[in-house]
Amino acid sequence: MNLILLGAPGSGKGTEAKFLAEYYKIKKIVLGDILREEVKNNTSLGKIVSEYMKKGILVPDDIIMKVVREKLDSAGFVLDGFPRNLAQAEMLEEILKEKALSLDGVIYLKVNEEKAVERLSGRRVCKNCGAIYHIVNMPPQKEGICDKCGGKLIIRDDDREETVRKRWQVFRRETFPLISYYLKDSKLLEVDANKSKEEVFLEIKKALDSYGKDKDFSGN
Ligand SMILES: [Zn+2]
Repeated sequence: MNLILLGAPGSGKGTEAKFLAEYYKIKKIVLGDILREEVKNNTSLGKIVSEYMKKGILVPDDIIMKVVREKLDSAGFVLDGFPRNLAQAEMLEEILKEKALSLDGVIYLKVNEEKAVERLSGRRVCKNCGAIYHIVNMPPQKEGICDKCGGKLIIRDDDREETVRKRWQVFRRETFPLISYYLKDSKLLEVDANKSKEEVFLEIKKALDSYGKDKDFSGN
């Protein structure tokens, strides 16, 4: 099964991608993680990527495509954080054709902006071990302190309200047009992502089941 997961910041994309990868035994391809990994390992690609990051410029589409091309194969995948704009969607189509692969579905996690801001701005991350908490949904036992290692909990810059609102603007401008792009192909499955992550996953499974009745999506 080959899937794309689309959703604004705070839609729970990362979590649902993980659930999907585990349940359907497919590869989770998270573009941001791959790029960060390359930078961390100081590979030739990582060096190029880190130059762009330092300048605060988005990594150009052709570099992104190179990375994606290497990762896609017939083992099945769920793409998270990619494509982010129409140009990337068109390039992805080329790559899929080249590899004789096809998309089975594009899941759009529809969340409202206030809900997303609430989710992200309440998130706290352990500075020491990276464990994630939420002041309402998953508070630590002791405020500001990690249950697992006693480290200090911080708010990531990406999760601050003003940053979240800015990321939403970018999403609306760049990524939102993809919804109608995939709607044309009748590949789009819209799921209400305002609910809990478990409920959202059930909705996704239901949508995939009814959509892929003729295909074997049983995960076996
Ligand atoms: Zn910790």
